[in-house]
Amino acid sequence: MEKKVRVRYAPSPTGYLHIGGARSALFNYLYAKKYNGDFVFRIEDTDIERNIPGAEESQLHDLIWLGIIPDESPEKPNPKYAPYRQMEKLDIYKKYAQKLVDMGVAYECYCTEDELAEMKEEQLSRGVKSFKYNRHCLNLTPEEKEKYKKEGRKPTIRLKMMENHEFKFHDLVRGDVSFNSNDIGDFVIMKSNGIPTYNFAVVVDDHLMEITHVLRGEEHLSNTPKQLQIYEYFGWEPPQFGHMTIIVNPNGKKLSKRDHNILQFMSQYKELGYLPEAIFNFLFLLGWTSENNQEIFTKEEAIKSFDPARLSSSPSMFDNKRLLWTNSYYIKHLNDEEYFDFILPFMKKVEFFAKKNEEELKKISLIFKQEIRNGQEIVDLLNEIVVKKENLGEEETAILDKPSSSIVIEVFKKSLQNLDEINEMNVKNLFKQVQSATGIKGKDLYMPIRIKLTGVMHGIEMFNIIDILGKEESLSRL
Ligand code: GLU
Repeated sequence: MEKKVRVRYAPSPTGYLHIGGARSALFNYLYAKKYNGDFVFRIEDTDIERNIPGAEESQLHDLIWLGIIPDESPEKPNPKYAPYRQMEKLDIYKKYAQKLVDMGVAYECYCTEDELAEMKEEQLSRGVKSFKYNRHCLNLTPEEKEKYKKEGRKPTIRLKMMENHEFKFHDLVRGDVSFNSNDIGDFVIMKSNGIPTYNFAVVVDDHLMEITHVLRGEEHLSNTPKQLQIYEYFGWEPPQFGHMTIIVNPNGKKLSKRDHNILQFMSQYKELGYLPEAIFNFLFLLGWTSENNQEIFTKEEAIKSFDPARLSSSPSMFDNKRLLWTNSYYIKHLNDEEYFDFILPFMKKVEFFAKKNEEELKKISLIFKQEIRNGQEIVDLLNEIVVKKENLGEEETAILDKPSSSIVIEVFKKSLQNLDEINEMNVKNLFKQVQSATGIKGKDLYMPIRIKLTGVMHGIEMFNIIDILGKEESLSRL
């Protein structure tokens, strides 16, 4: 019988959900759903000093917001596999580490940080490129261990790497990969405080949780042979690995948290008014290409067409234009009710509208539905219109200084006063009236009004401006 597909996303709660993490989670999720498997969310919290409060919850809830819904998590545990946080299963790691010691493939190491630093220095001075533990503690006698303990030293446990052993595996993204054990030093699996290291805990977890496939970032590629060594000693079957390429900015540089032009955290996307379906779609195409260059996928379509063999093996470029385009596509395709729910909180951020009733806001919001690419854009566009500009530019001042301008403004003001309802037709007629009354037309007719109302020479349709400002505010500005 085929094994049930089980995949996982295993963040450390040291930060909030980042674009790279969300992408890993998404591809694991798609893999699970494609093959009717389970998608597990579990927590790798052994780096206790770096954990931050709230990170676990926010990672989980941001995933759910995106529609990447775990089948199992600390909030939805399957008793067969729980607990889902590493710090809650320290006794399990201890037991497995002891097994390796008993088998003679792991050993206590009493070297101190200072001694290790010295060892490293000495190797570097000999021109050694990457540091390898010198096995000082590999064959300690019981007496030597006793002596160290009396000195107050607490041991770590190191894994003894095999000699000249090839770790070969078929990576779902990169194809055949191979590492030689001689290039890897004996590494620590249990720290002296009884907490396992990542490379050890992840193997125990993946095995006990019956994980069949692991799609993760390529920064973990060099960890894989260490993990394979542990699988090999236990005689466990490893999962199939796939290491996804890095995400780069348009300059081809690896995304850095300091890259302020690029939104990096899901919380930022939420705040700026990106729709979860759009981010889902955007992430899907970040490192994956469809056969026919299709650009918009529903979740169901993404699951159906996903094929890990099409995961790109070259870096994925974060394309801001595509992100905005995708989001605007999804905004345009909301029905009006959904659109109102989405957009009203943004409109209320504009002080001018804070007290306006919802019906009025809904009407105004529709002006921008085809135009905005995220929620924040409506805030910026509206502010541009409703916040009065105190200082006009030179060009604008020159236009207002023309004698014809004051005539247009006076006549327009009077006609507006008498207008019952503001709509496209009424405002167009208003301009016609002013034109026939004054004989002024074209730019000389429109520009003075526009500048008086908004302070600038460009922008949306005039009747929309008057609609947004309202009759009273428009009159006062004129
Ligand atoms: N906690 C690790 C990380 O956040 C998980 C790595 C893995 O998937 O094995 O990078």
